[in-house]
Amino acid sequence: MSTDDVSMLRVCGVSKAYGAVQALRDVSFDVAPGTMTALVGRSGSGKTTLLNLVGGLDSPDAGTVFVNGAEVTGLNEAGRSRLRRDTVAYVFQTFGLVPVLSAAENVGVPLRMRRTPREERERRVATLLELVGLAGHADQRPDELSGGQQQRVAIARALASSPRLLVADEPTGQLDAETGLSVMALLRGVVESEGVTALISTHDPVMMRLADRVIRISDGRVSEEPEPPGAAG
Ligand code: ADP
Ligand code: MG
Repeated sequence: MSTDDVSMLRVCGVSKAYGAVQALRDVSFDVAPGTMTALVGRSGSGKTTLLNLVGGLDSPDAGTVFVNGAEVTGLNEAGRSRLRRDTVAYVFQTFGLVPVLSAAENVGVPLRMRRTPREERERRVATLLELVGLAGHADQRPDELSGGQQQRVAIARALASSPRLLVADEPTGQLDAETGLSVMALLRGVVESEGVTALISTHDPVMMRLADRVIRISDGRVSEEPEPPGAAG
């Protein structure tokens, strides 16, 4: 991965405070397209704050964020909604599925927001459920699915509108080790198969090994880790 690649994400001198708490301190880094980056740090180090700035869920006090060459900071509310509809998709630790909707309907939500015609929507949803290994579970509601299955639905939903950047905030944090591993492998797989760029906060050493790159955050400051063994080339 050369540093000459156009960045999918560029974070420049970003700072963010909540009252007296300095959550991010002059954070800068770039993420190249088609790569998987693990963001690692202990609880309270600023991971969620940083991930929320990337998709315009929150705004920094200073600094700029660019996604796919477009400046996120400075977008108005409508622009940030469009960014999350078209370009940046989120996966959360607690899945965030709509309880009254089936797996298929949950995956279809972003496509409805884009007014994708029904037939095309149903085709895309079926393809995505297949991709995440849930083809036989389309009609089940979240409470009829295991945690790992719910997170797979959430990943399918995040991919529905073909985002450029997938942001996942501790996506395996609620899962047992074995289930977490399969979700991590799925995320690694979709970076390859969908050509999506992923930025994933995690405590999991396995995720760090699967990632192309590890960024460590401590007390709101980031530092790069040496390339993980096996990730080169
Ligand atoms: P992490 O995701 O790494 O656990 P966070 O980004 O959630 O860290 O939090 C970083 C720091 O900012 C913590 O000290 C946290 O308590 C504080 N913080 C985060 N969000 C808020 C908020 N909405 N109001 C006040 N403090 C916050
Ligand atoms: Mg967090």
